[in-house]
Order: sequence, then C-alpha cells, then structure tokens
Amino acid sequence: MLVVQKYGGSSVADADRIRRVAGRVADVRKAGHDVVVVVSAMGDTTDELISLMNEVTDCPREREMDMLLSTGEQVSIALLAMAVFELGLPVISLTGPQVGILTDDTHTKARIIDIQPNRLRSELAAGKVIVVAGFQGVNAANDITTLGRGGSDTSAVALAAALSADLCEIYTDVDGVYTADPRLVPDAKKLPYILYDEMLELAHLGAVVLHPRAVECAKLYGIPVHVRSSFNLNLGTIVREAGETERPNVVTGVAHDLNVARIAIFDVYDRPGVAHHIFEELAGAGVNVDMIVQSAMRDGINDIAFTVSKTEVKKAVAVIDRIKEDVGSGGFAADDDVAKVSVVGAGMISHPGVAAHVFGALADTGINIEMISTSEIGISCLVKASEALRAVRALHDRFRPPAGGE
Ligand code: ADP
Ligand code: ASP
Ligand code: MG
Repeated sequence: MLVVQKYGGSSVADADRIRRVAGRVADVRKAGHDVVVVVSAMGDTTDELISLMNEVTDCPREREMDMLLSTGEQVSIALLAMAVFELGLPVISLTGPQVGILTDDTHTKARIIDIQPNRLRSELAAGKVIVVAGFQGVNAANDITTLGRGGSDTSAVALAAALSADLCEIYTDVDGVYTADPRLVPDAKKLPYILYDEMLELAHLGAVVLHPRAVECAKLYGIPVHVRSSFNLNLGTIVREAGETERPNVVTGVAHDLNVARIAIFDVYDRPGVAHHIFEELAGAGVNVDMIVQSAMRDGINDIAFTVSKTEVKKAVAVIDRIKEDVGSGGFAADDDVAKVSVVGAGMISHPGVAAHVFGALADTGINIEMISTSEIGISCLVKASEALRAVRALHDRFRPPAGGE
C-alpha cells in the first residue's frame, strides 16, 4: 500500500514535533507500506517571511516572493528527513521542482499542471521514505512557484493522484473538519465525513482546514482524503463522494472569511458594457472578484460594489482609479472592515427557505447584512468584521448542523 501523508505547519513547529512526526512516518513504514510525506513550513515561518519581506518593500515582485516563501518548506523537509534517518530508515528529502511538480506561471498562486513521477517512483522502488516540500512547484521557465497560502494540502493530494496512492492523510492541529471553525465555535462538532462539493464550498468560503484546490483535485481523481490530528490517534473526517442513496444535509457547516474587502463604485452609467468593462479590466490585472452587487438604477446611474481578498485591494483600487472616468463614476470607496459568513449544505438544492433562516438568524442577533451571494449549496452574507464571530455563532446555533464523531 502507498500512503501519502501531509503535515501542516503546527505539526512540525519545533524539533520535538518533527521527531514525533518522524515516529508516525516510521510506524507506517514498519507496517510495510510505502510512504510519501509532504510537509509545510515550520509553525508561522511563512507569515514571518512575509513580515520580513514587507520590511524590505511595499510591492514585492511575485517571482521573488515565491523564491522567498518556498524556503520555509525546504527547512522542514531537511529536518524531517534527518529525524526519519535517526530512526534508522532510508529516506530522502526532495523539493517541489525535484519531484517534477510542474505549474503554470501564476506566481504566488500557481496551479499544478502535471507531476512527473519518475523520480518518486525510483526512490520508492529503492525502499526510501520520501519527504517532499509542499506548497511549491516549478514553471516551464524553471522558476520556482508557490501554490497560494495553504497550498501544501494541494501538493499532497496531487501527489496522491499522480502516484495512484491508496490513502491520502492530511494531518493538522484539529481532529478533523468541524461544523464550524472549532477555535471560534466551541460547540462545533467533528464531522465523520463530508462530501467533496461541500468541502470545496466551505474551503472557498474561508474554512482553511483544507486548501480549495486540494479538494478540487481529490474530487477530480476520486481520492478520499482523511483529515485528522497529528497530536492524537483519533479518526478524523473523510472527504468523499456522496453514496447513491444518501440524503445530504441541508446545512453541513458554517464558514467565515476575514480576508475580504469591499469596493464600491458610485454613480456609474446604466448602459450595456459598463459592468463588462469594469470586470474585464479587473480580470486583466489578475484580481479575483467574489461577490458583486449592482444597485437598482435611478436617473440612469447605478452603484456597483464587489468584494476581493484584502491582499488584492491595492491592485483592484489601481484598476478602478484608472478606468473610473470611462464608466462615468463619481468616485469609489474601499472598505476592508468586513467579513463574509456562510452556511453550506448539499441538501440546500432541494430545500427552499434556507436563505430566509440565514437572514432571520442574523436579524435576531441585530447584525446588518451588507451584501448577499448564493450558490447551489451555499449562502453568504457580508457583515462588519467586528460582527463576524457573533454572526458565525448565531448561524451555527440556528442550524445546529448534524453532529458526528464525539
Ligand atoms: P495546517 O498548518 O495543519 O495546514 P491550518 O491552520 O491551515 O493548519 O488549518 C487548520 C485550522 O483550520 C484549524 O486550526 C482551524 O482553526 C481552522 N478551521 C477553519 N474552519 C474549520 C473547520 N470547519 N473545521 C476544522 N478546522 C477549521
Ligand atoms: N507554508 C504555506 C502557508 O503557510 C503553505 C501551507 O502551509 O500549506 O501558507
Ligand atoms: Mg493549511
């Protein structure tokens, strides 16, 4: 059996924890299985590297940012390989480029295009444990790229797919996927399983326990992913496809995202092509737009508001400032004191009325909704950042998503 395991930053935060991970890896090897281990940077290393970068420049070139951020994972693989070797096992550490993780050119949020597993296969055939640096790859120009924050999960699932692994385990600092972030909602419950589509939606809506692209890749290749704690032996949550006769939950979980900002453009012309122009320019600058609201027209003019991640506000503002006259705008405002709260459940498709319950829960808590967006299996509301915690708890209380586990 071939097992791919991924250990997140908190699981390798110091030498003791690295030794503990080495022990878990050795147990798998001793049970007779091949093992590929993907690791993140130690503890808060990636954040610390970003702070350091911000001391040097306000507008880092993204290529150099990737060069910098990818170093964190390189420290972890070397140390973990040393710790595994100390336990008497043959082991080799490899970077993303060394294992042939090819990505596109989008520095800081590159997509994996292909993995050439030759090196991995030959090292496995030689009986070695392989320790791979998560979060990184290489583009066609042979430059190092990174996969976006939290991207080590994606490295692991993509490697599991490339190697047709039997098992993909994501080890983290909580016992699995919960009905809400257990750090914010103390009575959140661990889910024994969650459907790919629900997990994908939750991940997109801010649940950082899994990287969205990891879920996308797992769904695409039909790989069940076991999310569990590296601090105990409890079973975690299996992310998987729905069974044929399964009735999905109306609401499975609640997510929140603080990495949101709203930009409102005032008094734009109400005529064909205006929205196209604005959002085409934003797309051209590589800005990902999330929620969009256009107000009801009055006197031939509209307001258009949209949200982007906080990290992309500067880029978005530069675009709007450049094109505001083209769309007749009287001005614009950016507000990053907002948060997005969402409920997700695959059963929502066939259950009308969930939106009314969401709005009711927020209204009863005295929370104002600033924007709304919906998908087939999710409903999101933009609220003031300071209200996010109360909003998440109110939604969790209202729906009491189905508990599993303990
Ligand atoms: P790692 O470094 O292991 O990748 P992350 O910090 O990226 O860990 O992800 C784990 C964190 O995800 C948890 O500590 C928890 O606070 C957060 N989280 C957010 N939503 C959820 C959820 N629904 N279930 C479990 N954890 C969640
Ligand atoms: N070290 C990277 C980050 O902090 C990648 C990861 O942890 O998955 O985002
Ligand atoms: Mg993570």
